[in-house]
This record gives sequence, structure tokens and C-alpha cells, in this order.
Amino acid sequence: MNKNYIIPNEWSLIEEGFNRDNVKSSESLFSIGNGALGQRANFEEDYSGPSFQGSYIGGVYYPDKTRVGWWKNGYPEYFAKVLNAPNWIGIHITINKTTLDLNTCKVQNFKRELNMKEGWLSRSFIAVLETGEKIEVISKRFISITHNEIGAIKYAVKAINFAGEITFEPYLDAGIVNQDSNYDEYFWNILNVEKGTNEGCILSKTLKTEFQVATAMQVSFLLNNQLVNYPQKTKIEEKKLTYSYTLKLNKGDVATMVKYGSYATSLNYKNEELINASLKNVKEASALGFDTLLKEQINAWANIWRTADIRIEGDSKAQQGIRFNIFQLNQTYLGTDSRLNIGPKGFTGEKYGGSTYWDTEAYCIPFYMATKDASVAKNLLLYRYNQLDKAIENAAKLGFKNGAALYPMVTMNGEECHNEWEITFEEIHRNGAMIYGIYNYVNYTNDFEYIPKFGMEVMIGVARFWHQRANFSEAKNKYVILGVTGPNEYENNVNNNFYTNYLAKWCIEYAVESLQKVKENYSKDYNRILEKTNLTEAETEKWLQVAKNMYFAFDEEKQVYLQQDGFLDKELIPVADLPKEDRPINQKWSWDRILRSCYIKQADVLQGMFFFEDNFSKEELERHFDFYEPLTVHESSLSPCVHSILAASIDRMPKAYEQYVRTSRLDLDDYNHEVDEGCHITSMAGTWMSIVQGFGGMRVTNEGIPSFNPQIPKEWRSYAFTINFRGSIIKIYKSQKECKFSNESENDVTILVGNKKIKLPSKQLITV
Ligand code: BGC
Repeated sequence: MNKNYIIPNEWSLIEEGFNRDNVKSSESLFSIGNGALGQRANFEEDYSGPSFQGSYIGGVYYPDKTRVGWWKNGYPEYFAKVLNAPNWIGIHITINKTTLDLNTCKVQNFKRELNMKEGWLSRSFIAVLETGEKIEVISKRFISITHNEIGAIKYAVKAINFAGEITFEPYLDAGIVNQDSNYDEYFWNILNVEKGTNEGCILSKTLKTEFQVATAMQVSFLLNNQLVNYPQKTKIEEKKLTYSYTLKLNKGDVATMVKYGSYATSLNYKNEELINASLKNVKEASALGFDTLLKEQINAWANIWRTADIRIEGDSKAQQGIRFNIFQLNQTYLGTDSRLNIGPKGFTGEKYGGSTYWDTEAYCIPFYMATKDASVAKNLLLYRYNQLDKAIENAAKLGFKNGAALYPMVTMNGEECHNEWEITFEEIHRNGAMIYGIYNYVNYTNDFEYIPKFGMEVMIGVARFWHQRANFSEAKNKYVILGVTGPNEYENNVNNNFYTNYLAKWCIEYAVESLQKVKENYSKDYNRILEKTNLTEAETEKWLQVAKNMYFAFDEEKQVYLQQDGFLDKELIPVADLPKEDRPINQKWSWDRILRSCYIKQADVLQGMFFFEDNFSKEELERHFDFYEPLTVHESSLSPCVHSILAASIDRMPKAYEQYVRTSRLDLDDYNHEVDEGCHITSMAGTWMSIVQGFGGMRVTNEGIPSFNPQIPKEWRSYAFTINFRGSIIKIYKSQKECKFSNESENDVTILVGNKKIKLPSKQLITV
């Protein structure tokens, strides 16, 4: 564990004491967002120490020209990056002309809190400036969920030991850069700066993509809690608009500045409307006032928690961990806009460019399905449906034909952005996750109609891809899939990766089965789809040939499916025997050494068994878990949760617990030594699954009925879980001998325990 400074608390992240070494990590951890916008927890006032500035707007990206050592045909032209957007939070502060900067003054009583229950971030501290003035600062800010283009800051300064002048200089700064950029370019052009009395706006445009963004601010002041007006001086620099207000303070006075910020973007408005829209937003925010907006925020979060909370009693670190995960997932995506998706770092950093990965379908959909209205998961599926044409183009560029679709590994608008051959061209397993997402959604919601309306076309494109990507091996008398990278990126260009072959086979079979159902029950859609895709029964027959005769490398002696051909040729030394100083291997070993080794970056064969657990017996799961878990280094954040769930399924509760702790506090305790770059948002959905699907044992059957596995790890026996299932609050209490389910909601719920169906009437406690 790298860091251990976040104070355990059930509803908040708390940091006490000012430590410059933690500034960047805390900027990630204490980030705020509302699904559309996000802001790292940068200080409002100047900070001259190391800091990573980040303000983000979902969907506003820049195509950063690809940079590679050796160009390969088929590489994408660019990597789409959600841009660091104009800074709306900045307030330059001087006290008797000395700048407030926590890097240069003495800081006492520093406290930072991210209140997850209510959705706000606060900071308080005492600063003693080099010139001797002592001030107390209390600030609070949030990004509104109810007005999703608005952020608000209340920043109060108390003169503790002096009478004198304080100057507040709130500003908008569009002269910002991305830390992660291939050619150190500015991504923004400034089109207009609009100056007003206490409000102002900068209109900027991204280069190439030409998104326009109007960033507005409006400020007001309180002196000892009384609203006051101060004259304003304006400074306009090339990319920055600053207002300057000087206030005279007596000793003990408290001067408070309230700053509202807004982004209006060309995603939602016509270009010519942007400045007015953004200014209107801040005026409305100011008319409502900080406290009213905050009340709305608290109510909005209460609503989210009503259907998403998981309570863990008796361990505030575990409780904080799971709530932090749920909180961040909601800050990243609320499901109201099908153009947006879930970047692996959400709005907490630049890594992965804010783009969409297979993480969404493989990890995130269950969380959003279970904690929100079905329309949210549907929006995630529609995002891919809307990009089907691009997936077909993408496959065509690589030589596939006849409407075969290859979804990108990384994307913003459907085009591939990833540019390492072993991933771009070879990590094709991602195509299977697209279909698994549909399968999961349909099972969970019973909304089969999604398939005839949208999903079937995606399934056809993907089935065509697998059919063409496999080839018949005379030697094996089977279909094989050559030259791939599985989820385990520590192996490249392998043949017959189990996970990839399994998903390919499954995708084809599921597509054909679904097509049959569509034919029987939705004949109009069936005819439309056939006409649109030129699909014939003869073609689906050919697909099935591939699926039925798919090759899987299997070792008779060990009775395990091999991750890929030749896996057993490796020297199989368990991770436990690796010297500590060699870990993580991706930082300590050369790449060729990693590739030759037996070490598995993240769940691979086990990922497939997790998806399709019902297709394997408990003995098979145990055998594969025992073979692969000791070789897995979990150097992807997406890995421990899968192992935790599988371990719970096979009653290995201590292991399940060990992996759970690793996933749930991955960022809070900075296991991977990189939280300063941003949080691992998509793996947080995996943490949620470890509780609900792992410990809670909840499964979604094809009737859409959740089932609970009463097996609970020893370490958890004294705790009670509260799971929200489609609006029903179900508590699970455990003891050594029995499992009690209590349904506190107004609705009856049917659950499956083993093979037994139990009706859980509302407001009842049932012991099994
Ligand atoms: C993992 C991928 C994942 C990506 C983004 C990588 O480290 O290996 O499976 O899609 O991170 O989370």
C-alpha cells in the first residue's frame, strides 16, 4: 500500500493536515462531477507546488494526432482526448498584496472533506503568510446535478490578526493545456471574451473538432454574512478574463466570495447561442443562490443513494470504500445522454483520454442496470448501436467484408483511437463484450424488444466478424482464431486464446438464437433487418459451422482450458515466489521478459468463466481458479474483482475478501502508486459486482430474478449488507448457520437461494 492518509468515515473522504506530497493524489480522490462535467480537486487560489489541473466536459474532445515509432497500416490517425477545459474555479487572492499560496505560507488545521452523501467538496485551513497576516479560509464547492451546466463555490476568508486589504481576483482561464498531448499543442482557440459587471464569459473553440464552449462566471460578495457590492476592475489577457475586487477588512471580519461557473457547449446549443446560454446559467444560479442550489444538490444525491447505497456495518474503511466507488461511478455517468460514456478515469484525470473501452460493457453495465432506471443501461447500449456503421467501416479498413463489424478498442465517436498493433488489431475480444452487454441487459430487464429494434443488427455485424476472423485448420480439423491478444495484455499475438474463442462461439450462437426469436415474434423487424443487412439463412448456417467446430486448447492431464496454444510450455512459477522487488512486473521487467513469462496481467480464462459461470461446474471453476489465480499479478485494476467474485462462488471466502479489499480501496489506499493521475472509475463497477454478485451472491437469471448465495466469508459474517434491487431494499444478515433476508420495501421480491425460490414479501424478515 502506498498511501494511508484518508481518514475512514462512512460517508466522507477526509484529509487532515497539509502534506504537499499528497496534493496531486487528493486532487484525484476529491474530484467532483455530475456525469456531464468534472473537476479535479485543485485549489481555487494559486498553488505554486506540483499540481495537476483538470476541468473536463463530457464529449468535448480533441483528435490528438497519432505518434508512433513505426507506422503500421490500419493504425488510426488520432487518439481522441477529452480536453482539459477552461478553468472556471480560479480565484487569485492577495492579502495586503501578498499572494495566498499554500506552497509558500505556513498552513495549519488543514482539512478537506468530500461529502459523498450530499455531493460537495470543502476545505478549511489557517494560513500564515510570509508577511505575518493570519487568515482562516473555508471553502465549499459542487457541480450541480440538477442544473448540469453549473458549478458553485463559496470561499470565505477571515482576517484573524490584522486589519487591511484583501483582493479577490476570480478568473476564467482558457489558456490551459493537456498534460497528456502528443505534440504539446494548444487545443483551444479563443473566439470572444465578453465582459460584464460581475459576470463574464470566454468563448473558445477546439482545434480540428471545432467544439465551441462558452465558459461563464458570475461573482457576488458577503461581508460578515451581509450581501455587499464592490467595484470591479477588469483585466483581459489573451486567453484569460480576470475581475479584481478589493475589500477592506477589520480584524475578525469574514469576507465571502460566491463564484458560479458554467459551461455551455455546442453539443447542446447552436454556436451563436452559447455566450447567452452560459451567462443565463450563471445568472440563474446566482438568483437561486448557493444555499438553494446546495439543497437541490443534497436532494439529488439522496435520490441517487436511495437506489444505489450498499451498507456495510462494522467496518468504516470497507463502508467508505464501497460508497466511494458508487459515488465516483455516479459522478462519471448518470445515463441521461446517450452520446456520453464512461472513461476509465472518468473526470478525474487525462489518462485513457476519457474515451470508451470494453470496460463499459464488461464491467459497468450491471452497476447502472441495478441501481438506476433501465433507460440508463439502454443508453449505454444505444451508444454502441449508434456507432455500428463506424464499427463496420473499422472492420472494412482491416480487410473484413459484408458488414462485419469490429468495435474499436478505444473510441470517442465510433472510430478506433488505439495505436498499438497488439491491441488495436489483436485485442478483438472487445467485440464479444458488446454482445455480452446486450445479453446482460436483456436478461436483467426482460426488455427483449431491444434486440429486434437495435441489438440484432449489432449481433449480426459482430457474428460476421467472428465468422471471417476464424479460419479452418486442417491440422486440427477445427476452426481456430490466430494472432490475438486476450484480456491478458502480457501475451500478444497468441493463437486460440480461450476467452476470445469462447466469446466468438457464444456470440454466433446467441445471434442465431436471437434471430430465431425475432423471426417468430417480431416478423416486421425481422424482415427489415434481413433487408438492411442482406442476411440469409445460408449465411447463418456458415456462422454456426464455425461456432460448432471452434477449437479450444485443453490439457487432459490437468483438465484445464489453456489460456492459449502452448501456454504449458512456459515456466510456471507462482506469483507468490516472485521477489517483492520485481513487482509490479510492468515497472520492473523488460517487455520481452513479461511476454515470455507465465504471468497474467488480468483475469483472462477466468474472465470468460465469470461471464458464463452457469456453463461450468463448480469443480471446473475450482480447477481453473486454482490453476490461474496463482499466476495472476492483477496489474490491471479490472482484475481483482473478477477473482473475488469467482472465489466467492467456489466458497474461497478468505481469497474473495483479500481480492475485494484490493479492489474497493485501490485508489483510496493507492495500491497502484498512480492515483495522482486519476481514479480507476471503470474498475469501481467491478468492486460493486464483488459485493453484489460475489458476497451477496446475487445472480440475474433469464427470468430476471435475482438469486442470493448464502455463503458469506467469515470476515463478513458480522456485517449486514443492504442491496437495492429494482427499488427494493433487501438486507442480508449473516450468522454461522443461517442467512436472513429482510425486505424493507413496499414491494414483494422473489429471490433464488440455491435452487429454492423464495418469495420475500414486503417488510418481512425471512430466515433460510
Ligand atoms: C486493461 C484493459 C482496459 C484498460 C482501460 C488496461 O490496463 O488491460 O483491459 O480496457 O486498461 O481500463
